[in-house]
Amino acid sequence: MGSPTGVLMANRDKLLSVAEAQEQVLQQARPLPPERAALEPALLGWILAEDVVSDLDMPPYDKAMMDGYAVRAADLSVGKAILTVIEEVTAGRTPQLPVGPGQATRIMTGAPVPAGADAVIPRERTFLAEKDRVQIEDKPPQPGYNVMPRGREMRRGQAVVAAGAVLRPQEFGTLATVGRTAALVYPAPRVAVLSTGDEIVEADVTPGPGQIRNGNGPMLLAQIQRAGGLPHYLGIARDDVDSLRSRITEGLKSPVLVLSGGVSAGNLDLVPGVLRELGVTAHFHKVEMKPGKPVFFGTHQEAHGLQPVGLKVPPTLVFGLPGNPVSALVCFELFVRPAIRRLRGHSHTGPYMAQAVLADDFAYRTDRPTYYPARLERHKSGWQVRPVPWFGSPDLRGLTEANAFVLFPVGDHQHRAGQTFAVLRVEERD
Ligand code: AMP
Ligand code: MG
Repeated sequence: MGSPTGVLMANRDKLLSVAEAQEQVLQQARPLPPERAALEPALLGWILAEDVVSDLDMPPYDKAMMDGYAVRAADLSVGKAILTVIEEVTAGRTPQLPVGPGQATRIMTGAPVPAGADAVIPRERTFLAEKDRVQIEDKPPQPGYNVMPRGREMRRGQAVVAAGAVLRPQEFGTLATVGRTAALVYPAPRVAVLSTGDEIVEADVTPGPGQIRNGNGPMLLAQIQRAGGLPHYLGIARDDVDSLRSRITEGLKSPVLVLSGGVSAGNLDLVPGVLRELGVTAHFHKVEMKPGKPVFFGTHQEAHGLQPVGLKVPPTLVFGLPGNPVSALVCFELFVRPAIRRLRGHSHTGPYMAQAVLADDFAYRTDRPTYYPARLERHKSGWQVRPVPWFGSPDLRGLTEANAFVLFPVGDHQHRAGQTFAVLRVEERD
């Protein structure tokens, strides 16, 4: 039976590779229009959408880097001197007197260095001989010793944080330093989740004969949260065209719609057909991978939400994930998460692949590249990966022991401990 989208027919001989499919997704995923937001801690990890310029020189004056005495370096050409202390300057105060030959000003870290002085001798190198006389013993200082000159860190008008920067603590601090309390950022996309299937009931229901609980809904909502999207649950659609049509129409109002179930080749796998009927363009349906082969990706070019006139609205990205929970989880990490990250303005979309050595021998035979649930652990010798006990794509419980997927190649292999494999990480990213 051919795919309702026709895409399968065209690709019957050669399925798209995961990398090719990811490329197609990223081609369609464009960052959402930037929005102005208050720079609050909740924006940690968001992406800045403007170049931010400094409104001042930093430091704003020649600044003492140590507690000690501001002096003229020339007075210490032999490293020793007894100088007259003319005033004391603490942080937040400004010096009133210039330092002349034979003079020094007692100064605290962060305070402005007085005119005439060009070096700060640390307090440990000094000795207060009498009330206003300080004796100094240090190596002869260079001009600029322990002084951070005005504008060394940044100059007024200079770009200090560029568009595309990830907002980390140091960006929050820098933006505050240049007087910013708000900035343009890429907003988090709302990501709608629709579970499908006549047999699916919600978690608070005791399943009747032939029924199973909706594990995918809560799982996908949590994945969306982890990926930086705003999870939006649409419930369960039945395997009939009317039910699917109304829920999908609702889902197309979000920038991203994620469905689970109904994309395989069964009689009641109606999702791709309904999507097409509602104007979704299919980009792929089926990918060379296990689990998750039936995965569908399409786009829908209609306005979601209110947008300013003339602004081209990015298409809604539609992902039809297979119903088996592990397939859905893996497909989300490989295709949906990178798309969410791109919508949020990230240049690094992932997925996050690592290399690790196999901990134990593992015989495995597969006809498609396989993402096998595994435990990835750091050992003294480097990263090690160990497949966990697992009973195939319906077995989500097996994943509670896993924190990654080891990628096994096609063929009948006796993989050996110590061999290196690619690993899909789904946790603890930087
Ligand atoms: P489907 O992709 O619709 O053919 O579903 C494949 C398998 O996944 C079937 O055994 C379904 O019962 C199961 N399944 C579908 N949707 C869910 C769901 N939301 N939660 C848990 N299992 C599901
Ligand atoms: Mg189904």
